[in-house]
Amino acid sequence: MKKSFDIIVVGLGANGSSALYHLSKLNKRVLGIDRFTPPHEFGSSHGESRIIRQAYHENPIYVPFIKQAYDVWYEMERISGEKLLLKTGGLMLGEENSYVVSGARLSAETHGIDYEYLDYNELLKRFPAFKPHKKTVGILEHEAGILFPEKCIKTFLYQAQKNGACIVNNEMVLAISFADDRVTITTAGGVYTAEKVIISTGAWMSTLLPDLKLPLTVERQVLHWFKNTSGHLQQKILAKKFPVYIWEYLPGQLFYGFPDIGSGVKIARHHQGEQIKPDELTQQVSGDEIKQMKYIVDTYLNMEVVYDRSAVCMYTNTPDEDFIIDYHPEFKNVILASPCSGHGFKFSSITGKLLCDMATDGYFGLDISPFSLKRFTNLSAAKTSFC
Ligand SMILES: Cc1cc2nc3c(=O)[nH]c(=O)nc-3n(C[C@H](O)[C@H](O)[C@H](O)COP(=O)(O)OP(=O)(O)OC[C@H]3O[C@@H](n4cnc5c(N)ncnc54)[C@H](O)[C@@H]3O)c2cc1C
Repeated sequence: MKKSFDIIVVGLGANGSSALYHLSKLNKRVLGIDRFTPPHEFGSSHGESRIIRQAYHENPIYVPFIKQAYDVWYEMERISGEKLLLKTGGLMLGEENSYVVSGARLSAETHGIDYEYLDYNELLKRFPAFKPHKKTVGILEHEAGILFPEKCIKTFLYQAQKNGACIVNNEMVLAISFADDRVTITTAGGVYTAEKVIISTGAWMSTLLPDLKLPLTVERQVLHWFKNTSGHLQQKILAKKFPVYIWEYLPGQLFYGFPDIGSGVKIARHHQGEQIKPDELTQQVSGDEIKQMKYIVDTYLNMEVVYDRSAVCMYTNTPDEDFIIDYHPEFKNVILASPCSGHGFKFSSITGKLLCDMATDGYFGLDISPFSLKRFTNLSAAKTSFC
């Protein structure tokens, strides 16, 4: 294989695979490198499903990005013939003034997103799968649904290769040395050079770029699946009326979940995980973790379930939980992407396009200044935002 390229993408998870696909359409010599064989179970992009939604309670600034992300997901479905996105509708649940409910409403109203406000009685009537308490209300948006992360990554990589991109799997990048006009990448298997590099190594961003002292922390997150054992008719009724949901059940504490799409009801807490080093992630899930989640299921879902299985994944958090998408502070031919903090998958279709535009001086028409590294120089207090 040639060792010299126009652009190299390091890390081929959600964002890197998408960037590689967009670059591959431009007639450039592009290479993607990953330390494993994506999609895989060791980073942040596995576990069968990810929520996609538009009424973005975190901040209305994300809505223009998500609208364009939907377009790219549809484009990928058209090109590949694969089903990547399943619309189920999405319910944001909490008390009237909770962060999730008020934030979703603000984004919907700011950007003209169609939504319904449901009070407690409406929730009970329309969504028998849930057991809200009397002060719970909901914002229902119809465009929300499920992305299939492994299939999305596979599709980006397959289409990129079809367009001529090279991919090297199972080769860990050990070092990257920068100069203004050339980047040299040393892996366990060789040395590659390129004019530009996109670094999208997820939980391993800081490991690969220790000198930048990026303000990132890695958090262990556990996903759980439960089998619904309610009677057959009851299961059918519940399945028909079961959107994806995010529930602020206590101030600042969230869990979220998915309907049964064939492998059980998936549910997880957002944050509240242990801070870890990515290479020390253990896949073991304790009895206590399962017990705590079963308690949440029994309290908030109106169904009988038995525990089935769990998976372990990682969030890479910034202090304000907004993304990092920026050039290296010294080298403009180096582009950094850390769009996680637990909510980056849905955007990855458009994030890859942005990264490609940044690497090729393309016009991207979206304001990425909220994701710049500069904001951390004067960071005085970390704000808390959610899923
Ligand atoms: C449990 C969980 C639930 C989530 N739920 C949602 C959700 O519902 N909706 C949503 O929008 N987002 C969600 N997210 C967030 C979303 O999944 C992440 O933002 C996204 O997957 C991050 O993608 P990434 O490309 O940054 O990282 P990854 O997909 O992890 O990719 C990083 C890649 O870099 C590679 N790599 C690392 N170091 C090296 C190296 N030295 N050399 C070569 N390769 C390297 C890794 O092998 C990996 O393939 C969730 C995340 C988790 C963990």
